Amino acid sequence: MKSLQLTNFGEPLQWAESETPVPRGNEVLLKVNACGVCHSDLHIWEGYYELGNDERMYIADRGVNLPLTMGHEVVGTVVQAGEGVKGAKEGDLRLIYPWVGCGECKYCNSDRMHMCLSPGSLGVFKDGGYSDYILVPHEQYLVDIDGLKPENACSYACAGLTAYSALKKMMPLEEDESMVIIGAGGLGLMAMQVLRVLTSARVVVIDLDDNKLAAAGKIGNFTTINSKNEDPVDRVMELTNGKGASAIVDFVNNEATSTAAFSMLQKNGVMVMVGLFGGKLTFSNPVVALKNLTIRGSYTGSLSELRELIDIVREKKLKSIPVKTYKLDAADELLAKVKRGEITGRAVVTP
Ligand SMILES: [Zn+2]
Ligand SMILES: [Zn+2]
Repeated sequence: MKSLQLTNFGEPLQWAESETPVPRGNEVLLKVNACGVCHSDLHIWEGYYELGNDERMYIADRGVNLPLTMGHEVVGTVVQAGEGVKGAKEGDLRLIYPWVGCGECKYCNSDRMHMCLSPGSLGVFKDGGYSDYILVPHEQYLVDIDGLKPENACSYACAGLTAYSALKKMMPLEEDESMVIIGAGGLGLMAMQVLRVLTSARVVVIDLDDNKLAAAGKIGNFTTINSKNEDPVDRVMELTNGKGASAIVDFVNNEATSTAAFSMLQKNGVMVMVGLFGGKLTFSNPVVALKNLTIRGSYTGSLSELRELIDIVREKKLKSIPVKTYKLDAADELLAKVKRGEITGRAVVTP
C-alpha cells in the first residue's frame, strides 16, 4: 500500500510504500474512499500545542511515534476481514470511528474509548487514512453510512462528532435562552448543522471572517457577529438584554475567545472549551462560585454518539457542510491552508 507519512515534525509528508496488512482476529482492512483534513492534523504535523506564555505541549511526549500516517476522518470500503469478524463483509462502505482505546479498561468497556488512558486512535497513535488502505482493530468501530457520500460523511468521525458531543454537554436549552458558537470553521459549521435537532434556543455565531459567517448564514437563521468589527461581549449582552448567554461552545478556545466567552456567560451558564488554538484563560474564582458556572472541556465523542449523529444526519437529511475534495498529494498544501484559516468547511483527500 501507498501512504503519505509524517516522518519528521514540521517537515513535508513523505510517500512510503509498504506491504498491505492482512487482517487477523477481529481486524478489518478497508480501502480508503475519503479522508478529511482536520485542524488537529496540523497540530500533529507541527508537533506541539501552544499552551500560552510561550509554553508548549509536545506531541512526542504524548506517545505519538513517527513515522505516522495521519488522517482520522476516514470512510473506506471493506476488502478483507480477520477470522474473528462476524458482520463486516467485502464491499461494505463504512465510516471509521477512529478514537480507538485499549479495548480492556473501564472506559473502553463503557462506550468511552475516546477517554481511554492508553489510546490507540487511528491517524494519531496508529496509522490512519492518508493512505490507500487502513487497518481497523475491530468491526465495532465501523459505522454504516448507507445513503451518504464518502466525502460528506468522513468528517462526522471527528469534526461532526466533536461538535455534536460538545453541544450535548450544554443541553437542555429552552427556546427563551441564548447560546453562542465561537468559530464558524469546520467544527462550528457542523454544530450549526445539527443544532436544531437539539434545541430551539436563540443562536449567536461569532467569527472574524465574513466568508465563514456567510457560510453559517446558509445553514440556518443565526445572529452573526464579526468580532473584528464589533466587541462580541457588548453585542451578546445587548442581544440578551444584559443577561448574557446560557451556554457557549468555543471551537477556537484561544486567550481572546475564552476570555470573551467567560465575560458573556450568564448565571448558571455552561462554557464548553473545544478548540486547540492555545493560550490561557484567567478568571475570578468568586465569579465562578457566585454565578454557579460550569466551565468544562470536550474531546471528540463516544462511539454511540457517532452512531446517533449519523442516524440524525440520515433521518433529518441534514445538508453537508461545504466540502472540497483533493488528491492525497495535496495534503501538505492543505495543511498550510488550514494553518492560514483558508478552508471554508472541510478539505477531503482521496487516495
Ligand atoms: Zn481502554
Ligand atoms: Zn480531528
